[in-house]
Amino acid sequence: MRLSIFFLGLVLMLTPCYAGTSRPMPAARAVKRVSVRKRPVRRTHLIRNRPHQAHPLVILDAGHGGKDRGAKVESVLEKRLSLTTVLLVKRVLEELGYRVVLTRSHDVSLTLPRRVGIANKMDATIFVSVHYNSASNPKAKGVEVFFYPSKKDTSRAKESKHLANCVLYQMVDNTSMYSRGVKKGNLYVNREADMPSILIEGGFMTNPNELSNLKSRDFLGKLAQGIARGIDKYLKT
Ligand SMILES: [Zn+2]
Repeated sequence: MRLSIFFLGLVLMLTPCYAGTSRPMPAARAVKRVSVRKRPVRRTHLIRNRPHQAHPLVILDAGHGGKDRGAKVESVLEKRLSLTTVLLVKRVLEELGYRVVLTRSHDVSLTLPRRVGIANKMDATIFVSVHYNSASNPKAKGVEVFFYPSKKDTSRAKESKHLANCVLYQMVDNTSMYSRGVKKGNLYVNREADMPSILIEGGFMTNPNELSNLKSRDFLGKLAQGIARGIDKYLKT
C-alpha cells in the first residue's frame, strides 16, 4: 500500500465528506468558462429550510450534446460518456426515492442558460453537472469537483462546497480514482444556479488508463453509484 493512499485513508476516516487535495496539473478542460459579470443579490437558499426538503429534486446535467460533442479521444465522445453517466446516476437516485430531472436525456444541443433555467424554474434542490476532462499531458489524471464561491450568497457557496466534498469523497471511495480535490471555479452552470450547484470532472479521457476504465460499463456504474451516494449523503446531512 502506498504511503499516500494510507494518508488518504486517514483523511477519509476523519472527515464525513472528504475535502480532497488539489494538485496543479496542466489541464485543458472542455468546459466553457464565462467571465464574471455583476448581478443582483439573490435570495438566500438554505437547503435545510426549504419546504420540499422531504422530497428533494435533483437536476442532473449531462455536459455537451448535439453539435457540441465535448472532448473526443479515439472514438469516445465526452457528450456520450456524460449522458451515460447521468442516466446511471438517475437510476440509483430514483431507487433511493429521489425526484430526478435530466437537462437532456438524449443527444441534443443545449445552451448553458437553458440548462440552468430548467433548474431555477423548477426550484430544484441541487444541480449536478457531469463532464470528463482532457489535457495535453497524457499523465494528467483524477477526478475533481467544482463549485462557485459566491461572495454574494455565502450560504449557497457553503452548501455547494459541502455537496462537492460529499460527491468527491464517494466517487473516490467507490472507484479508487485519484482525487484532484474540490475546486473553486467560475463556471456558468454553477454561478447562475439559484441552488447548490457543482460540476464534476469524472476523469481524464486523455489518460490511457482512465479512458480504458471509462469505456467499461462496470466502471462507469461504480462512478455513477459514487456520485449518487455522495448526493444522498449531502441531502441527508
Ligand atoms: Zn465537458
